[in-house]
Amino acid sequence: MKRRSDLSEAPPWGTFSLSPSGAKNSQSVQIFLWISELLGYFGRMSTTQVISFHYTLTDPSGKVLDSSRESEPLQFLSGTGAILEHLESALLKMKVGDKQRVDLKAEQGYGVYHEDRVIEVERAQVAHLKDLKVGDQLAASGPNGEPVVLTVKSMGFEKVSLDGNHPLAGVDLSFDVEMMETRPATAEEIEHGHAHGPGGHHHH
Ligand SMILES: [Zn+2]
Repeated sequence: MKRRSDLSEAPPWGTFSLSPSGAKNSQSVQIFLWISELLGYFGRMSTTQVISFHYTLTDPSGKVLDSSRESEPLQFLSGTGAILEHLESALLKMKVGDKQRVDLKAEQGYGVYHEDRVIEVERAQVAHLKDLKVGDQLAASGPNGEPVVLTVKSMGFEKVSLDGNHPLAGVDLSFDVEMMETRPATAEEIEHGHAHGPGGHHHH
C-alpha cells in the first residue's frame, strides 16, 4: 500500500470515482484501501478502549492517598464505569507517554460528605465482631438490599458510630497520571465488560 505522502497530489475523495477498469485501476484500489484505513482509524478512536495508566492520588494537603507506582499500571475498559467518569474523560484525550495532573472536586470524585449517612448502633449489636476498631470497614446492606460499606468512625462504651460515606467523600482529589498503553478492546473484552491482559489475552 502507498504511504499517505505518495498520494498527496491526489486527494482520495476527488479520485475515488475513477473507473475500476483500465490503467487507473490499481491506483483506484489503493486509494480505496487508504480510505478504509482512515475510516478504520477514526472508527477506533470512538470505540471502546483498554487503557493502562499509572497514577498517584493526593488530597489537597499533598498527602498521598493511593498510587499504582509500586505495582502494575491500572488497566480498565472504557465506558464501563470502572473508574471515575471525569478521570476517564481526561485519560481518553491522552496519548501514550503523556503525563497530566487531573484535579477533581469532591463531587466529581467520591461525592460530598453526608452527615446523615453516619449512624449509631448499640455496642452490643457489633459485639460479635472481635477486635473491632476505628477505621475498620464492615459490609452491610442498604435499605434496598444494595451493598454498603460502613467505616467505624468512633467507639464509645455503649455506642459505635458507623459512617456510610465513601472514605474519600468530601475530599478534593488530584491524580497525577501517566498514560502507559491504549488499544482497542477485543470483542471478548467488550462482551465480558472488563479488560484482559496485555494484547487482550485472557488471564482470569
Ligand atoms: Zn473476561
